[in-house]
Amino acid sequence: MATPLDAPDFEVAILGTGFAGLCMAIKLRETGERRFVLLERATDVGGTWRDNTYPGAACDVPSHLYSLSFAPNAEWSRTYPTQPELLRYLRSLAADNGLLPHIRFEHRLEKAEWDGEKRWWRLTTTGGVVTARKVVSGTGGLSEPKNPDIPGIETFRGTMFHSSRWRHDVDLAGKRVAVIGTGASSIQFVPEIAPVVAHLDVYQRTPNWIIPRRDRTYSETTKTLFRTIPALREAHRKSIYWTHEARVVGIVLHPALMKGFQRLAERHLKAQVPAGDLRRKVLPDYTIGCKRVLISNAWYPALQRPNVTLITDGIAKIEGNTIVSTDGTRREVDVLILGTGFYATENPISSSIRGRDGLLLSEAWKDGEEAYLGTLVKDFPNFFFIVGPNTGLGHSSMIYMIEAQVAYIQSLFRHMVAASATTLEVSPVVQDAYNHELQKKLKGSIWATGCKSWYQHRSGKITVLWPDFTFKFLERTQAFQASDYLLDHRHRQAA
Ligand code: NAP
Repeated sequence: MATPLDAPDFEVAILGTGFAGLCMAIKLRETGERRFVLLERATDVGGTWRDNTYPGAACDVPSHLYSLSFAPNAEWSRTYPTQPELLRYLRSLAADNGLLPHIRFEHRLEKAEWDGEKRWWRLTTTGGVVTARKVVSGTGGLSEPKNPDIPGIETFRGTMFHSSRWRHDVDLAGKRVAVIGTGASSIQFVPEIAPVVAHLDVYQRTPNWIIPRRDRTYSETTKTLFRTIPALREAHRKSIYWTHEARVVGIVLHPALMKGFQRLAERHLKAQVPAGDLRRKVLPDYTIGCKRVLISNAWYPALQRPNVTLITDGIAKIEGNTIVSTDGTRREVDVLILGTGFYATENPISSSIRGRDGLLLSEAWKDGEEAYLGTLVKDFPNFFFIVGPNTGLGHSSMIYMIEAQVAYIQSLFRHMVAASATTLEVSPVVQDAYNHELQKKLKGSIWATGCKSWYQHRSGKITVLWPDFTFKFLERTQAFQASDYLLDHRHRQAA
């Protein structure tokens, strides 16, 4: 017989307070739900935009698209929002929507275990244990920094840090600095620190295609117009959305069309780097779009500074303060900055989540992450992912995907209530068929044309990206079919 004592602490536990977690909480609150908690490992909200504070950190998706559709901001200062501006926006979302009392800071998830008897999740965190009927993970795809596996790196005698854990207490002025990696983060902070340091060694493993960064500030007049005539701001957002969406045609449907886009990057390279050794070194040998396309006007000029050296030989080992290249060259440095990216395909959180019969999520995902609509995973009842497998984008705003997933999760919650169900999970057949279809489509995409990228699991399977228009993802999440799900009809134990 059910008693209130059998009720979990919360109806919903949300992991993380970045865009995903906050969006989920706002939408839950709108429905009148108050029995939810947000578990946050840090002492502030903001997710990636709290963690990535490196010099020059900004988003390469325009601000008016990289924001929640229901929380527009007429005050964006420029095309590409900077990290401080994004963090302010996220903090105000949390405060203005009454979420702060729901957040438990310094509650880093240590393990999540499905209790099949009670039919709820038991979450052990650094701040204590919490039980919840449903868990929504908003921990992000790029939240765990990945350090390179270079022999001797652990013995480095200088100061070493990852770009997403920037040490603002370390004064780089006059220091010999090395940066490993030339991805989206490095190309933003290298031009910022190059004028300050004594010398900068940049270690590049693979060059990236780079296109011009067309950034501009919004004038006070424009902001006033956006504030007073919301339809104008909305039209601006829509025009950005469709400009980005058009790229899907080349990325997924007809990769050959990317040649035209590549010429834009080639012209940018030729305009900024004279013919010669450097140009050869930074020219990619794969089709544009296979790896993430970067935008910068400052990267190539930074590499041409007299105090900057681009090193394309591999790193053999690190000894004391010295980085030893594969050609035997030894270079001493005081500070080593790792711009080496994140665990995108093997999120460490998966080794802390146990579903039905103790199944570990990392075990279920050993051949590559997969889910249904990036949200549900078979054998993990009542666990909902935002920004889960194959929801990433190479061309547009993740906020669009987040909003689509939050609305989808809400529709699943409504389905559970309507059916008086305590548990919901995806039918294994449906998940398998969906992933079969996805992988078939991905094989014809630009991402499968021969480069190595963080979009791929070590098996080669592309587990990060959504291979279609974003509105197609929205449509899929809206086309609800009850037969896709398995429900448990036992009566709710909770009051
Ligand atoms: P990333 O794009 O994964 O780049 C990592 C870099 O480190 C690559 O150049 C990689 O080389 C190199 N690397 C990794 N391991 C290495 C090793 N063992 N030895 C030598 N080089 C190594 O990481 P990120 O720059 O931090 O960016 C991650 C993602 O975050 C981006 O793609 C983007 O989605 C997002 N982001 C967005 C923005 C923005 O909106 N502006 C800014 C920053 C980050 P290979 O290419 O050879 O693997």
